[in-house]
Amino acid sequence: MQFNTYTTAGAIVAAELVNQPSASAAWMSDLLERYKIYRPTLDQAAAEELRDWADGLRLAFETTGAEQAAAVDALFVAADCRPRLVTHDDLPYHLHYAPLDAKVTTRVKALTTAGLAQVIADGAAGRLGCCTREGCDIVFVDTSRNGRRAFCSVRCANAVNVRRHRARRRYGDPVPASGR
Ligand SMILES: [Zn+2]
Ligand SMILES: [Zn+2]
Repeated sequence: MQFNTYTTAGAIVAAELVNQPSASAAWMSDLLERYKIYRPTLDQAAAEELRDWADGLRLAFETTGAEQAAAVDALFVAADCRPRLVTHDDLPYHLHYAPLDAKVTTRVKALTTAGLAQVIADGAAGRLGCCTREGCDIVFVDTSRNGRRAFCSVRCANAVNVRRHRARRRYGDPVPASGR
């Protein structure tokens, strides 16, 4: 699947918002700018609205199957998503998920929802995930080749590997030669 499209950028923006629950308006504006969101500047009230929105987005990463699909479908309703065929800044006509003159919060809600929905509709629902290290709740869009990412970071993967290694030693099982 293609992860570099404007639509799946919506899923990645969703993960970033979930992972920064107390992000400032400036941080969010930077994030949106980085993903080339149209008119990305937020004020304090807009940032507050998106922090609330991120609570709902988390479900898309922490559930699977029908529950996950229902959660994302409900986001479409909550976001009041209205796809439009638009052009701006001399770009060719392309899809937006809210009108150009909609508030930035409306546009980001619609885009994050559409991004998550697109990943699921492309048969890649399992790529919306949450770190499996106990105590870590960082979410991600798994863009790896094999799509088997289990941890948010090398740090979490190492922490779990070290713990497994110690558990094996404790129970007297042979430790592989690699020492991991
Ligand atoms: Zn555009
Ligand atoms: Zn983690």
